[in-house]
Amino acid sequence: METRGHADDAGIEASGRANGLTRLGLRLLKGTVLGVADAILPQTCVVTREWLPAGAGLVGDAAQRELDRLMAVSYCPRCGRTARPETIYQRGGPKSRQRCGLCRKEGFWNLVEIVRIGTYEPVLRVPLLGIKYAGQERNARALGRLLGELVRQRGWANELDALVPVPMHWLRRVQRPCDHAVVLAAALGAELRVPMWRVTRRVRYSPSQVQAASLSERFANIAGCFEMRRGWDLEGKTVCIVDNIVTSGATLCEISKVLRKAGARRIYAAICARAKVPGDPVEPEVRSQNEEVRSEDSTGRGPSGISGTS
Ligand SMILES: [Zn+2]
Repeated sequence: METRGHADDAGIEASGRANGLTRLGLRLLKGTVLGVADAILPQTCVVTREWLPAGAGLVGDAAQRELDRLMAVSYCPRCGRTARPETIYQRGGPKSRQRCGLCRKEGFWNLVEIVRIGTYEPVLRVPLLGIKYAGQERNARALGRLLGELVRQRGWANELDALVPVPMHWLRRVQRPCDHAVVLAAALGAELRVPMWRVTRRVRYSPSQVQAASLSERFANIAGCFEMRRGWDLEGKTVCIVDNIVTSGATLCEISKVLRKAGARRIYAAICARAKVPGDPVEPEVRSQNEEVRSEDSTGRGPSGISGTS
């Protein structure tokens, strides 16, 4: 929808941005209050549910070691697949986009870069399901901190004008305690001090992507599902799409097409987990040298307290 150049729409946009800043301010205030509560009250680990002493944070030692292990696994910054560093290509100088051998022939990727925490293992599945089906905001804060750390490490935190959560259809929203992508984007936004702009909406109710088996089915399932909300203009903006899981990439690519059409100049994505899809390597997780060093330094306590719920 083309809205540029209309005074009414410009007013709506300005109003939307003002509201966005107000909401960001409220979220920062809320984050401060919750941070104080974390510091003075005992908490439970968002993964294992074990009790933690006051000020220990949201994640226990065992779960943190497991998250460190996941985050040390190297992956392709174009498609998010686990990939050995030597299989990631970069052509055309240091600013060209990296890609792995598996996504090299997938022409649909149109993002500058993806960051992910790790593959969809229990240590991520438990807090993500807690957000999705129980609206557990603490889980989102824990994951938002990790995503924020990763975005800063990749060096594009200061480029971002806004975070854009993948929108949920209203029919699905009434079935869920919260919109998980919005909760995650809010948590990441508080971490990076970047506003969340809910600029898109889902105009078509589609079956879950999990039920679509093949890549072509996934793209067909999601095609035409998103459109821009009236009054938003992204001309020249740099935005980051936020979602819980990426599988084939069909949803990210579809929503990024809408953002691009609305003028977005650079589009990144921050995703908690990369699920495996048919065609992905079946080899064990590729670990970095850092992770191997950490394993040798391990006290021997494994992530025994971590259990899946699905
Ligand atoms: Zn790739």
